[in-house]
Amino acid sequence: MDYKIHISGLAQGKYEYEFPVKGDLFREFENQQVIDADIVARVTLEKGSGWMNAHLRGEGKVTVECDRCLENVDVPVNFESSLAIRTAKLGEDVEDSDEFIIVDPSEAEVDLKQFIYDYICVNLPMISRHPEGECNPEMLAKIEALRAGNDKKEETENYSPFSGLKDLLSKSGKKK
Ligand SMILES: [Zn+2]
Repeated sequence: MDYKIHISGLAQGKYEYEFPVKGDLFREFENQQVIDADIVARVTLEKGSGWMNAHLRGEGKVTVECDRCLENVDVPVNFESSLAIRTAKLGEDVEDSDEFIIVDPSEAEVDLKQFIYDYICVNLPMISRHPEGECNPEMLAKIEALRAGNDKKEETENYSPFSGLKDLLSKSGKKK
Protein backbone atom coordinates (compact mmCIF):
# COMPACT_ATOMS: atom_id res chain seq x y z
CA MET A 1 0.00 0.00 0.00
CA ASP A 2 1.40 3.42 -0.82
CA TYR A 3 0.29 6.82 0.33
CA LYS A 4 1.48 8.89 -2.56
CA ILE A 5 -0.16 11.87 -4.19
CA HIS A 6 0.80 12.86 -7.67
CA ILE A 7 1.51 16.58 -7.66
CA SER A 8 3.39 17.45 -10.81
CA GLY A 9 1.31 19.21 -13.42
CA LEU A 10 -1.73 19.56 -11.17
CA ALA A 11 -3.93 22.50 -12.03
CA GLN A 12 -5.01 24.83 -9.24
CA GLY A 13 -7.95 23.49 -7.33
CA LYS A 14 -9.03 20.95 -4.74
CA TYR A 15 -8.41 17.25 -4.92
CA GLU A 16 -9.63 14.46 -2.70
CA TYR A 17 -7.82 11.23 -1.94
CA GLU A 18 -8.61 8.29 0.27
CA PHE A 19 -6.13 5.88 1.78
CA PRO A 20 -7.14 2.81 3.73
CA VAL A 21 -4.72 2.17 6.59
CA LYS A 22 -4.37 -1.44 7.70
CA GLY A 23 -2.15 -3.34 10.07
CA ASP A 24 0.62 -3.70 7.49
CA LEU A 25 1.59 -0.03 7.92
CA PHE A 26 2.38 -0.67 11.58
CA ARG A 27 4.30 -3.82 10.81
CA GLU A 28 6.34 -1.88 8.28
CA PHE A 29 7.34 0.58 11.01
CA GLU A 30 7.92 -2.34 13.40
CA ASN A 31 5.33 -0.96 15.76
CA GLN A 32 4.73 -3.55 18.48
CA GLN A 33 1.85 -1.69 20.06
CA VAL A 34 -0.62 -1.77 17.19
CA ILE A 35 -1.69 -5.30 16.30
CA ASP A 36 -4.11 -4.35 13.55
CA ALA A 37 -5.78 -1.28 12.12
CA ASP A 38 -8.79 -0.31 10.10
CA ILE A 39 -8.60 3.40 9.40
CA VAL A 40 -9.50 5.55 6.46
CA ALA A 41 -7.29 8.57 5.91
CA ARG A 42 -8.85 11.24 3.71
CA VAL A 43 -6.68 13.89 2.19
CA THR A 44 -7.87 17.12 0.65
CA LEU A 45 -5.13 18.64 -1.43
CA GLU A 46 -5.50 22.28 -2.28
CA LYS A 47 -3.30 23.84 -4.87
CA GLY A 48 -3.05 27.57 -5.35
CA SER A 49 -0.68 29.77 -7.18
CA GLY A 50 2.70 28.84 -5.76
CA TRP A 51 1.40 26.99 -2.72
CA MET A 52 -0.05 23.64 -1.84
CA ASN A 53 -1.75 22.45 1.27
CA ALA A 54 -2.89 19.03 2.40
CA HIS A 55 -5.61 18.55 4.95
CA LEU A 56 -5.65 15.09 6.50
CA ARG A 57 -8.46 13.47 8.41
CA GLY A 58 -8.39 9.96 9.72
CA GLU A 59 -11.07 7.88 11.30
CA GLY A 60 -11.22 4.28 12.33
CA LYS A 61 -9.92 1.88 14.90
CA VAL A 62 -6.78 0.10 15.92
CA THR A 63 -6.40 -3.21 17.69
CA VAL A 64 -4.05 -3.06 20.65
CA GLU A 65 -3.40 -5.06 23.78
CA CYS A 66 -5.72 -4.29 26.67
CA ASP A 67 -3.76 -2.72 29.54
CA ARG A 68 -5.76 -4.75 32.04
CA CYS A 69 -6.28 -8.26 30.63
CA LEU A 70 -3.70 -8.26 27.77
CA GLU A 71 -6.23 -9.54 25.24
CA ASN A 72 -6.86 -7.64 22.01
CA VAL A 73 -9.12 -4.64 22.20
CA ASP A 74 -10.28 -2.23 19.48
CA VAL A 75 -9.93 1.44 20.26
CA PRO A 76 -11.14 4.32 18.11
CA VAL A 77 -8.63 6.64 16.50
CA ASN A 78 -9.30 10.04 15.00
CA PHE A 79 -6.94 12.66 13.75
CA GLU A 80 -7.09 15.84 11.77
CA SER A 81 -4.17 17.92 10.65
CA SER A 82 -3.00 20.29 8.00
CA LEU A 83 0.27 20.11 6.22
CA ALA A 84 1.78 22.67 3.90
CA ILE A 85 3.64 21.23 0.96
CA ARG A 86 6.67 23.27 0.00
CA THR A 87 9.09 22.69 -2.75
CA ALA A 88 12.77 23.17 -2.15
CA LYS A 89 15.87 21.83 -3.78
CA LEU A 90 17.98 19.35 -1.89
CA GLY A 91 20.60 21.14 0.16
CA GLU A 92 18.57 24.32 0.52
CA ASP A 93 18.44 25.54 4.05
CA VAL A 94 15.00 24.43 5.18
CA GLU A 95 14.10 23.18 8.59
CA ASP A 96 12.45 19.86 9.10
CA SER A 97 8.98 20.15 10.56
CA ASP A 98 5.83 18.20 11.10
CA GLU A 99 3.80 21.17 9.87
CA PHE A 100 5.09 21.05 6.35
CA ILE A 101 6.54 18.60 3.97
CA ILE A 102 9.35 19.51 1.65
CA VAL A 103 9.41 18.13 -1.82
CA ASP A 104 12.09 18.54 -4.42
CA PRO A 105 10.65 20.43 -7.43
CA SER A 106 11.69 17.59 -9.71
CA GLU A 107 9.65 15.11 -7.71
CA ALA A 108 6.33 14.10 -9.19
CA GLU A 109 4.69 12.82 -6.03
CA VAL A 110 4.41 13.42 -2.32
CA ASP A 111 4.57 10.46 0.00
CA LEU A 112 2.33 10.93 3.02
CA LYS A 113 3.11 7.58 4.62
CA GLN A 114 5.32 8.88 7.43
CA PHE A 115 2.87 11.68 8.23
CA ILE A 116 -0.18 9.46 8.30
CA TYR A 117 1.67 6.98 10.48
CA ASP A 118 2.85 9.70 12.89
CA TYR A 119 -0.60 11.29 13.13
CA ILE A 120 -2.12 7.95 14.06
CA CYS A 121 0.59 7.21 16.63
CA VAL A 122 0.29 10.53 18.44
CA ASN A 123 -3.48 10.15 18.56
CA LEU A 124 -3.55 6.69 20.07
CA PRO A 125 -5.29 6.68 23.43
CA MET A 126 -2.91 6.79 26.42
CA ILE A 127 -4.82 4.00 28.10
CA SER A 128 -6.30 1.22 26.01
CA ARG A 129 -8.58 -1.19 27.75
CA HIS A 130 -11.93 -2.91 27.52
CA PRO A 131 -14.89 -1.16 29.08
CA GLU A 132 -15.27 -2.02 32.79
CA GLY A 133 -16.39 -5.65 33.19
CA GLU A 134 -15.58 -6.73 29.64
CA CYS A 135 -12.07 -7.99 30.22
CA ASN A 136 -11.33 -11.68 29.97
CA PRO A 137 -11.83 -12.92 33.56
CA GLU A 138 -9.46 -15.91 33.13
CA MET A 139 -6.67 -13.62 31.99
CA LEU A 140 -7.35 -11.24 34.86
CA ALA A 141 -7.07 -14.10 37.36
CA LYS A 142 -3.76 -15.25 35.84
CA ILE A 143 -2.34 -11.73 35.89
CA GLU A 144 -3.48 -11.27 39.46
CA ALA A 145 -1.73 -14.49 40.47
CA LEU A 146 1.47 -13.40 38.73
CA ARG A 147 1.32 -10.03 40.39
CA ALA A 148 0.87 -11.58 43.80
CA GLY A 149 3.99 -13.66 43.15
CA ASN A 150 5.98 -10.56 42.21
CA ASP A 151 4.78 -8.73 45.28
CA LYS A 152 6.16 -11.47 47.48
CA LYS A 153 9.59 -11.00 45.94
CA GLU A 154 9.46 -7.29 46.61
CA GLU A 155 8.31 -7.68 50.16
CA THR A 156 11.83 -7.50 51.57
CA GLU A 157 12.20 -4.02 50.10
CA ASN A 158 8.84 -2.58 50.98
CA TYR A 159 8.12 -4.54 54.08
CA SER A 160 5.55 -3.00 56.34
CA PRO A 161 4.13 -4.87 59.32
CA PHE A 162 0.79 -3.21 58.75
CA SER A 163 0.29 -3.99 55.05
CA GLY A 164 -1.10 -7.46 55.80
CA LEU A 165 -3.35 -6.06 58.49
CA LYS A 166 -4.67 -3.42 56.10
CA ASP A 167 -5.58 -6.13 53.60
CA LEU A 168 -7.42 -8.08 56.24
CA LEU A 169 -9.38 -5.06 57.34
CA SER A 170 -10.38 -4.06 53.83
CA LYS A 171 -11.42 -7.64 53.01
CA SER A 172 -13.58 -8.00 56.09
CA GLY A 173 -15.07 -4.61 55.34
CA LYS A 174 -16.09 -5.73 51.85
CA LYS A 175 -17.83 -8.86 53.10
CA LYS A 176 -20.37 -6.86 55.02
ZN1 LIG B 1 -9.27 -6.23 28.84
